[in-house]
Amino acid sequence: MVRIDGSKGEGGGQVLRTSLALSLVTGTPFQVVNIRAGRSKPGLLRQHLTAVKAAAAVGNAEVEGAELHSKELTFRPRGVTPGDYHFAVGTAGSATLVLQTVLPALLGASGPSTLVLEGGTHNPAAPPFGFLEKAYLPLVRRMGPSVEATLERPGFFPAGGGKFDVLVKPAPLKPLHLLERGNVVRRQATALITQVPFDVAKRELETVGRKLGWLAEERRVEELKRSPGPGNALSLEIESEHVTEVFTAFGERGVRAEDVAETVAEEARVYLEAGVPVGHHLCDQLLLLLALARGGSFRTLPLDGHARTQLETFAHFLDVKFSVNEVSPQVREVEVRGT
Ligand code: AMP
Repeated sequence: MVRIDGSKGEGGGQVLRTSLALSLVTGTPFQVVNIRAGRSKPGLLRQHLTAVKAAAAVGNAEVEGAELHSKELTFRPRGVTPGDYHFAVGTAGSATLVLQTVLPALLGASGPSTLVLEGGTHNPAAPPFGFLEKAYLPLVRRMGPSVEATLERPGFFPAGGGKFDVLVKPAPLKPLHLLERGNVVRRQATALITQVPFDVAKRELETVGRKLGWLAEERRVEELKRSPGPGNALSLEIESEHVTEVFTAFGERGVRAEDVAETVAEEARVYLEAGVPVGHHLCDQLLLLLALARGGSFRTLPLDGHARTQLETFAHFLDVKFSVNEVSPQVREVEVRGT
């Protein structure tokens, strides 16, 4: 039984989700203590509990401690079964993070699966649906499996109520090498709004124009339909020859539209200036895929806490070696080798 201290490293939900994902893939049981000890509301929140239950369903697992606010969990998987699954967070908690918990196991399952996921689809501090669709899933497909996600209904904090469908056709994961970004071929700033004044979107896009010099035809407003509650997100999509990256910031009550745009524009500026293919968020998510493929390499920004915590969590479940080399002050090259 692998024992994990959830307070180590980044101390968030990722330690738990990555452990669930790898436990399912490897069949290794684990116990985690101090769950999310580094967060202001520690223990299992609704979103994490849904991830645990989703993993238990997919892996036919025996589970102890699967309760709200629980800080300790024991998980014993008994074999992954592909099939038709429906998981609902029940709050605005991120449903895309629930997907990422069970997806690795389903990518290597003995048959196809369909998933219906409900909850938040556009959450701060989680992969927004647009990132999943444009940045993350294309890389999964490049590694072999086929995964398609369709947004039925957006769900923003605090109302939630979003929904999306996913079709997974498994295949062995092949190593991925992503050292070059190539030229930028398309830039698209999208201000997503639902039940929020149009002016918010307009001011966000003007800020992107001012800060990054993106042209009028590279900026657009998208009014989302069927959202149960109000919401606003600004996403910057950068399509390059070898990869597409998506950066997102969320509008919040009491935060000026200009400040929301400044934050995400700065993130995009750092990425563009470094010349790397992979940004911070994609990095920690890609690390897991490469670890499962037991090979690959990519260039990215200096590793953040999430990425370092991923590497520490992998070591409990997989015999995979990682090297991180400094190419320049802003650029790291990550290499993954399976044994
Ligand atoms: P945690 O904070 O431990 O719950 O983990 C959050 C996860 O969501 C990490 O994998 C982050 O990289 C990912 N994430 C957070 N914000 C974004 C974003 N704006 N775009 C894509 N992924 C994100």
